Amino acid sequence: MEIKAPRGVRDILPDESWKWAYVMNVAAKTMADYGFSEVHLPLFEHTELFSRGVGETTDIVEKEMYTFTDRGDRSITLRPEATAGMTRAALEHGMCAQGSAAKLWCWGPMFRYERPQKGRYRQFYQIDAEFLGTAGPMADVEIIDLSAELFRRLGLRNLEAVINSVGCPKCRPVYREALLKHFEGHKEELCEDCLSRMERNPLRILDCKKPGCGAVADAAPAIYEFLCDECREHYEEVKAGLERLGIPYRQDKRLVRGLDYYTKTAFEILSGDLGAQNAVCGGGRYDNLSESIGGPHLPSVGFACGMDRVVLVMEEQGCSFGRAPHAAVYVAALDASARGAAQKLTHDLRQAGLAAEQDVAGRSFKAQMKAAGASGAEWTCILGPEELEKGVAAVKNMGDGTQENVPLAEVPAYIAGRIK
Ligand code: ATP
Ligand code: MG
Repeated sequence: MEIKAPRGVRDILPDESWKWAYVMNVAAKTMADYGFSEVHLPLFEHTELFSRGVGETTDIVEKEMYTFTDRGDRSITLRPEATAGMTRAALEHGMCAQGSAAKLWCWGPMFRYERPQKGRYRQFYQIDAEFLGTAGPMADVEIIDLSAELFRRLGLRNLEAVINSVGCPKCRPVYREALLKHFEGHKEELCEDCLSRMERNPLRILDCKKPGCGAVADAAPAIYEFLCDECREHYEEVKAGLERLGIPYRQDKRLVRGLDYYTKTAFEILSGDLGAQNAVCGGGRYDNLSESIGGPHLPSVGFACGMDRVVLVMEEQGCSFGRAPHAAVYVAALDASARGAAQKLTHDLRQAGLAAEQDVAGRSFKAQMKAAGASGAEWTCILGPEELEKGVAAVKNMGDGTQENVPLAEVPAYIAGRIK
């Protein structure tokens, strides 16, 4: 039987991959403009990094990780997210030593064992930015601004930034108690998952998408009344910063995010054009992640943007991806005697930095001209015995149909000088 790809993964084929390259170019430029440097992280890490960093009671660690034992008997996990790995790398290389900050970004595949559906895959791609080593609210604002600017440059519309504070280990336990008290009185209305969350992580009930739990969560007390002075002040300053930059946002007391490491600011950017999987970006502050993986106190904030979903929304909204790659020049041989010269001319055009295509299957001249038309090439070079005799190529402008004989050695410069 023919082997197919495993469930939940997909191939990004040429008709889509050029769009990804466009998005990556825009992302790389935006990151550079905001002072973030790119890091290439490993795709797998010690399992412990995620169980301790992301948190034992999260959906990711409880049921979504691809974990295996390698030949050296180590427990290894394919990264389900990038923040823990980025923090590990920054610590390992002393990038935040002596209280200095690091602004780092990365992109690549993440792996989660989830139920595949539109916009949800088992291998998906994230663009990830992390501002490590700063505690103040200006860093949070810079991170949210960076994500909003990336989407603005990509031309996305109909987006909404949603923010919340999830407090800190000082004030969250008090809120947790108040939540528990509320949920205790509504046990019959909660789903089974939420009942088990009550013991382990009641904040996660706020995040449940089921209507019954949603109604109970809507009626639950909001965290704002429970925030300590430091968390409240931080939250107010983040909101003031967003207002200063003209970034619209909505507060949502039910936004808690699925990862345990968040403290203070949590945010998401939602698209009105994605259906159920509507988050294109999620992030927040994680002041205690470093300590949970054995590092020093390292207050940090970051975001992860889902590339698969960004490309989906851009397609849906008819956003521009620039121009699809195509041959600028097609080289056609009139007969077999000109094939060698055609191959040499194609090579010379490519060396001059022009995208050139040729026939290598010995097809008829008619078939080659048809292929030239279909390729979208702006120029066609025709070589036959007559042209070879004179040492020229017949260079045809496919746009206006005009044709000129150009000495073979001058063809690359001739076309390069006329291409738009
Ligand atoms: P969701 O609520 O959609 O499951 P999440 O909170 O698990 O998202 P994060 O861990 O915050 O997601 O990851 C950040 C972004 O990565 C999401 O906003 C989304 O765009 C994208 N993402 C997460 N999981 C997947 C997936 N399985 N397939 C495609 N994109 C994903
Ligand atoms: Mg998820």
